[in-house]
Amino acid sequence: MFKTLKDADLDGKRVIVRVGMDVPVDDSGNITDDTRILEGLPTIKRLLRKKAKIILLTKIGRPKGKRVEKLSVKKTAARLSELIGVPVKAFDECVGSKVRAAVKSLKEGEIIFLENVLFHKEEEAKDTAFAKDLAGYAEIYVNDAFSSSHRDTVSITMLPKLLPSYAGFLLEKEMRIQTELLESPKRPFIAVLGGAKVSDKIRMIENLLKVVDKILIGGAMAFTFLRAEGYSVGDNKFEKDFVSQAKEFMKSGKIVLQSDAVAADKFDEGANTKIISADKFEKGWLGLDIGPKTVETFKKELNEASSIVWNGPMGVFEMDKFANGTNEIARFIAKSKATTLIGGGDTIAAAKKAGVEGKFSHTSSGGGAMLMVLEGKKLPGIAALENLSGNYN
Ligand code: AMP
Repeated sequence: MFKTLKDADLDGKRVIVRVGMDVPVDDSGNITDDTRILEGLPTIKRLLRKKAKIILLTKIGRPKGKRVEKLSVKKTAARLSELIGVPVKAFDECVGSKVRAAVKSLKEGEIIFLENVLFHKEEEAKDTAFAKDLAGYAEIYVNDAFSSSHRDTVSITMLPKLLPSYAGFLLEKEMRIQTELLESPKRPFIAVLGGAKVSDKIRMIENLLKVVDKILIGGAMAFTFLRAEGYSVGDNKFEKDFVSQAKEFMKSGKIVLQSDAVAADKFDEGANTKIISADKFEKGWLGLDIGPKTVETFKKELNEASSIVWNGPMGVFEMDKFANGTNEIARFIAKSKATTLIGGGDTIAAAKKAGVEGKFSHTSSGGGAMLMVLEGKKLPGIAALENLSGNYN
């Protein structure tokens, strides 16, 4: 097990915190949703109460080792400062003499925010000198970035080897909720999966089949399964290489596929549409949403559930014409008395569009990281905290 903030002696200590404040921004760098800042507050407040000297580090977007102005931490630091009522000084780099001097003169309860760590190519290259520079700023390392903990980078897997290290409250909460759900779910436990590709989700399905009672599959990925069942799929794309795997999965008897679709004659909001039964797809038609029969079947199944995990939209929810199935299922899960877990960028966007954002027992802050947990794999960030907590030199 990894250590958490509650195990740490934080009083007056210099603490470097890898936060997950990877906020979405518009073209001018304005924050369009501050959820990820809000989710990081419990850890920061704890550190403030302990009068720690706080050094924050995050990534924003994918700048790939170069400075991209709109992805600077400046506005994130300003928003954080507003939220906690304490000044937060942002820097335009992570290392260098300016940062070193600022770290040295940090006083108890003061906060500095280093620049977007992905402006430095060293972060992903796992550069030792970069890791040592960052570790040199602090006596303690805290990982509160669940959303980046599936990555093997300096700030996620190397810093915990160089400093006594602890999980922050958000990381701890994400791991607790997801592990509990996988290890001792209230049953029946039902997974609802959708989205574009089976290939992205094959390992997750494999692992979920070991722990859930049923998997409901809709969206584009359903067509690979329907093909595996021997149906013609019209113009719908399916992943040839995964048909035999899908066939194997079907043998579990736990998978319920979409049985009809809102079909369109082109991939366009202005397309002609009709409802087609999933076993009778004609050429010239694409299934872009689950149909009414599927909505009813899925609701009936979900009505029985005591635990639900949802990942992936049921159709092209971005187009209003094909959003109905996703909306219906999102709202039904949101209203359910079951323990509900959702995650993934598209899934959260779909919940928002359906007007049920935040109406689940837990909305995960990490898409890729949640997928990896559901695949039954250990996150590199967690492995680094577990193996080497307190083991440093
Ligand atoms: P994923 O990232 O795999 O969860 O896929 C999400 C994307 O899948 C969304 O952008 C949806 O528009 C798309 N999607 C879901 N169902 C369909 C469908 N039946 N046909 C085409 N795209 C779909």
